[in-house]
Amino acid sequence: MEKCPNCNARIKDNNECYRCGFDFALVFSCEQTAEVLYFNALASLKKGNIDQARRFCEKAIAIDNSPRIRKLNTFVLLKTFYHA
Ligand SMILES: [Zn+2]
Repeated sequence: MEKCPNCNARIKDNNECYRCGFDFALVFSCEQTAEVLYFNALASLKKGNIDQARRFCEKAIAIDNSPRIRKLNTFVLLKTFYHA
């Protein structure tokens, strides 16, 4: 997240928007959770557990619909399709 979701101001190095006072703590916490789920999905893929990777991807996308997670989810879905 580079801009405040409330007023679109640039985010500086604190947990609160300098312009509107929006508290970023919950947003940052969600981003961290999505990051953990993303790396869990990668680890599951590495172990060959595609179903588990798919579940991690679905949870990550529900929290953070970023291009990186969408790309991994597409890859996992393709692997699911071709391994079924
Ligand atoms: Zn703001």
